[in-house]
Amino acid sequence: MWGDVLKDENLIGDLEEIAKDTALLHGVLMRTKETPNSPEVVSYAPFTLFPTTVPKAVFHEAMAVQTQFNMLVDRVSQDPGFLEQTLASPSPTPTPKFINQMVLNVLGLNRSDYMLDHSPDGRTSLKQIEINTIAASFGGLASHTPDVHRHILKVANFPEESSCILDNNPAAGLARALATAWELYGSKRAVVMFLVESVQRNIYDHRYVENELWKRKITVIRRQFEDVFRTGSLDEDKRLFVDKHEVAIVYFRNGYMPQNYTSEESWATRLMMERSKAVKCPNISTHLAGTKKVQQELARPGVLERFFPGQPETVVQIRNTFAGLYTLDMGEEGDKTVAMALANPDQYVLKPQREGGGNNLYGAEICEVLEKLRGSTERTAYILMDKIQPVPLQNVLLRPGVPPRPIACLSELGTFGTYLRKGSELVFNECVGHLLRTKSAEHADGGVAAGVAVLDNPLLV
Ligand code: ADP
Ligand code: MG
Ligand code: MG
Repeated sequence: MWGDVLKDENLIGDLEEIAKDTALLHGVLMRTKETPNSPEVVSYAPFTLFPTTVPKAVFHEAMAVQTQFNMLVDRVSQDPGFLEQTLASPSPTPTPKFINQMVLNVLGLNRSDYMLDHSPDGRTSLKQIEINTIAASFGGLASHTPDVHRHILKVANFPEESSCILDNNPAAGLARALATAWELYGSKRAVVMFLVESVQRNIYDHRYVENELWKRKITVIRRQFEDVFRTGSLDEDKRLFVDKHEVAIVYFRNGYMPQNYTSEESWATRLMMERSKAVKCPNISTHLAGTKKVQQELARPGVLERFFPGQPETVVQIRNTFAGLYTLDMGEEGDKTVAMALANPDQYVLKPQREGGGNNLYGAEICEVLEKLRGSTERTAYILMDKIQPVPLQNVLLRPGVPPRPIACLSELGTFGTYLRKGSELVFNECVGHLLRTKSAEHADGGVAAGVAVLDNPLLV
């Protein structure tokens, strides 16, 4: 669609400067690698020069299935037997230690990610990459990228396309969900605590949600594991206090990678928060419901039916988005997966139980790892997945220090879902927006935070 512009180097150069200034003007910001904890020097968050075309039908399919995925996560999180059986196999996967907790209020802020698979017969279908049930990011920045692309398209003389860029405001939806959970907690003095990393490059993404809460007169504090360990405690009613603030909600924007738990103290802190009366977003079982091993188990015949008895339409709606997922458990089935992967490594992705991008293995690496792990229970720490094959589209990735040039790109569409459950009563369940991220087709893995993908917007066609 932007073919002629992408052929004109001078035009790209002119648009590049306008685009970057526009991103800064609209607050699509990120702190720099050099000074991640200082607001003195900031830059734009990397983004595409142009939006990416996405077929209307698959976009709406993704938005429509989000509330069903919220329900699936919620139901899985309430099934300790299923989680234990799925995750407690002889593997280095963390076993669900704290599942038997009280049933309290549960707040889910999820993001389900998809790629558009292009089959040889020319059909495009929505295939889920994964669902993130902890620290799903970019709801804040994604609320501000539409205006950037609208402006670029006007300047590049695509006025019609400019007016077709969708509104998107996940920040408002995430904040609304947090605010409702805060109200339900029922103490005007209590605060929402963002549990954050020590390196805070992506802080502006958080700030959008944070400031929406302040607008509603809800106090927000930002703390790290260490801070909570030093100054946190539970009272006799299991209320969580941090620095004398009573905490109504712990919103995890950290705690999803092993390296986030730097010491025994971090684990003790997680356990203390989990045991508290504060609403956890997510609680431990909701966190575990988002693991890749659970995703693979859910794709087994009959498993979705177990979570949606008497709802065959919902089962079909969810299952249509599943790519092939294969167990690497010890036994015949796992052996078959290994043989299949070794025979056609380029058709698969080997995924460890990790989050945050940059952990998956492709092609020859798959063979290397599977050969090395032959006969070892360590292989159960991975799952195998069909590699989704989207059609590459030309675009320019704008990122600090990288000359802008048109390259073949692949995109990943995310949809944000929120839900709140009070005991057994569902208070709300919504889809609150979307996120499109685009990367070079050469990069197999990695998100925006990992420095590979950049922010984008869908242009529905
Ligand atoms: P993480 O939790 O680390 O984000 P993902 O499952 O999202 O793990 O994988 C990271 C990236 O790897 C994705 O953003 C996507 O670019 C790529 N990827 C993952 N699974 C597949 C797949 N089945 N087919 C093609 N690419 C994939
Ligand atoms: Mg993830
Ligand atoms: Mg991901």
